[in-house]
Amino acid sequence: MPQQPDRQVVVRSTRVLTPEGERPADVIVVGERIAAVQPHGGALPAGADLVDLGDDALLPGLVDTHVHVNEPGRTEWEGFASATRAAAAGGVTTLVDMPLNSVPPTTTPDALAVKRATAAPSVHVDTGFWGGAVPDSLGALRSLHDAGVFGFKCFLLPSGVPEFPELTGDQLACAMREIASFGGLLIVHAEDPGVIGAAPDAAGRAYAGFLASRPPAAETTAIAGLIGLARETGCRVHVLHLSSAAALPLIADARRDGVAVSAESCPHYLTLTAEQVPDGATEFKCCPPIREAGNQDALWTGLAEGTIGCVVSDHSPATAALKQPPDGDFDTAWGGISSLQLGLPAMWTEARRRGHTLADVARWMSAAPAELAGLAAKGAIAAGRDADFAVLAPEETFTVDPAALHHRHPVTAYAGRTLHGVVRATWLRGAPVARDGAVDGPPRGRLLTRP
Ligand SMILES: [Zn+2]
Repeated sequence: MPQQPDRQVVVRSTRVLTPEGERPADVIVVGERIAAVQPHGGALPAGADLVDLGDDALLPGLVDTHVHVNEPGRTEWEGFASATRAAAAGGVTTLVDMPLNSVPPTTTPDALAVKRATAAPSVHVDTGFWGGAVPDSLGALRSLHDAGVFGFKCFLLPSGVPEFPELTGDQLACAMREIASFGGLLIVHAEDPGVIGAAPDAAGRAYAGFLASRPPAAETTAIAGLIGLARETGCRVHVLHLSSAAALPLIADARRDGVAVSAESCPHYLTLTAEQVPDGATEFKCCPPIREAGNQDALWTGLAEGTIGCVVSDHSPATAALKQPPDGDFDTAWGGISSLQLGLPAMWTEARRRGHTLADVARWMSAAPAELAGLAAKGAIAAGRDADFAVLAPEETFTVDPAALHHRHPVTAYAGRTLHGVVRATWLRGAPVARDGAVDGPPRGRLLTRP
């Protein structure tokens, strides 16, 4: 029987975000891949369908390398079906799941197999997995690396769940030597336990109290230590969810010296400020915390200068009861802000206000995270890449209505905000998976393995 030829589609827009910048173009899609990017308005290949987006922007699908899906084990908090629906509705076509908050945590090859089997039937976007470096897994990290995780996450202070303990300073050094021996990547929740232990307690409804309990020095101390160990061991290290701009000079200096250190920040640190958080509003709680407006300005400078490479969600939901205790106590509330579906418009709203372009947003939220994880088929609209797209109406606005969110407990720190940028559609490997906030069809996502 003759082979069915791959379907050809020409996706046309006056605003295509390519690695070289924004331009009018026709993107030729054959099957699941981008075959070519050609001048706008050319003749269609024989038999090709045309999807003309007019002036809506065509971005590479977002790559969110920091998502806590929590399934199995805490599926009442979030799960693969609901998280990946939120991702698809928000223009995210690839996510990499964090190793903790699920039970079992992804700290062994067997636990990774459990996670993959759980995720496989449910994912609406392509999904990969980080592994965990915990005291019990030291010495055996290579087997989890070989099983296909994209790298190893660790904490330096309690993680919030008992089954994922932190590493001591000595254990961190061991982990980095071990990971360097096979060329792996360590990703770190960088807050120092000594500094946090010496800071005042977070108890109560006052946001100022919570902020004082997690001072900038907790981040700078932890990051200085990590950089020292990266210099010594040669281990590639990535600072997760950077909140304090005070650490930027340390990171920039180390990078200038050729130390393999990178950093990410998150939409909430870049678009929300401590001054705006009402007392008792625990939907704004995350660790490290959202800091003051002046710090945020400096984070944007770090982003513009490339010291911060990636912007990813740190989507970390819990049940509404855990996230919003009736007494509004910042100490007991779950820390985590869930923005898989809102990261793109939240970031674009603030980026355009500060004079940045959609090309910047595409670099921060797609190209750079794809590069961090080594996802060579993702992160760009270019020949040979997967045809993963986010179609954005950049100048349209909407007001965030929690009822329109797909994640399991639609509590959000963005409720009621008016944002620029409506995600019109999301394409995964050559076909739409979401349109106007609705997620189409059965789950088409694939599980990803480190190449
Ligand atoms: Zn996280």
